[in-house]
Amino acid sequence: MADRSSPWSLGGALRGMFAKPTIDETTWDDLEDAMITADFGPAVTEEVLEHLHAQVRRYNTTDPVDLKRMLRETLEERLARLNPTLTLSARPAVVLVVGVNGVGKTTTIGKFSRFLVGHGRTVIVGAADTFRAAAVDQLATWAERGGAAIQRPQQEGQDPASVAYQTIERAQREGIDIVLIDTAGRLQTKSGLMDELAKVRRVIEKQTEIAEVLLVLDATTGQNGLAQAEAFIQHAGVTGLVITKLDGSAKGGFVIAVQEKTGIPIKLIGQGERIGDLTGFTPHVFVSQLIG
Ligand code: GDP
Repeated sequence: MADRSSPWSLGGALRGMFAKPTIDETTWDDLEDAMITADFGPAVTEEVLEHLHAQVRRYNTTDPVDLKRMLRETLEERLARLNPTLTLSARPAVVLVVGVNGVGKTTTIGKFSRFLVGHGRTVIVGAADTFRAAAVDQLATWAERGGAAIQRPQQEGQDPASVAYQTIERAQREGIDIVLIDTAGRLQTKSGLMDELAKVRRVIEKQTEIAEVLLVLDATTGQNGLAQAEAFIQHAGVTGLVITKLDGSAKGGFVIAVQEKTGIPIKLIGQGERIGDLTGFTPHVFVSQLIG
């Protein structure tokens, strides 16, 4: 994960507040402002503040250091309600990667390949977004960078479900551990897109179970981006979230808001454009960096 100077850290915003000798009214106002600015959203902000008020009363403390510890514990406890572990024990384990174009799907597939290869797994990527040849080439570049094999469409515009089928067939034949299927993310054709995805799922499920459906979300778009991805959340059977571009975002609170709003665990975090810039999600580490 990033160092303590992460742009999404609340550390700077909270420093003055926690340096004061006692908790006072401005402490609460400053904390609320910092949380809203960081895109925690009004609901989470209000609940967290209420809980902290109750804790401060209960322990009868006026020490900002206590408040900081309570804030850290509260956020960590909330994030740890969902399990961030990827379920990849099937052979092959099939992972569908979904999301709106531009969020970082291609890059994530490359980084995730590298992550898995680094853990001793073999990986094949299926280019089931067959609409644009240039996009397939870009995916192939990232897959190769990540150390994965690539299954390309045999012709431009090939049925995405048949590419997914061929990828899994190849994984089974060649004994490849993990299958990552890239899917289309063109927003303007939402209902067609969901039908296409449903067909991809049906075809895969005739061959094997789907291990994970990962929805990629761009942290820089915050909760607006989440609204754009709503169709995937409703229809795609998403099992985990990947938050990308956290390195360019001031919206650390989005990570907490998004998990609570969707009820879907965050499983991976992307913080950069290089192949190694993807990590698993660990609430304790994340909150330590968030609070500073
Ligand atoms: P796709 O359309 O969803 O496949 O998106 P791409 O993978 O092509 O990424 C879109 C842009 O976002 C590219 O310029 C990527 O380099 C950039 N990008 C992706 N992930 C990250 C990240 O974690 N951090 C930063 N700073 N940029 C990213």
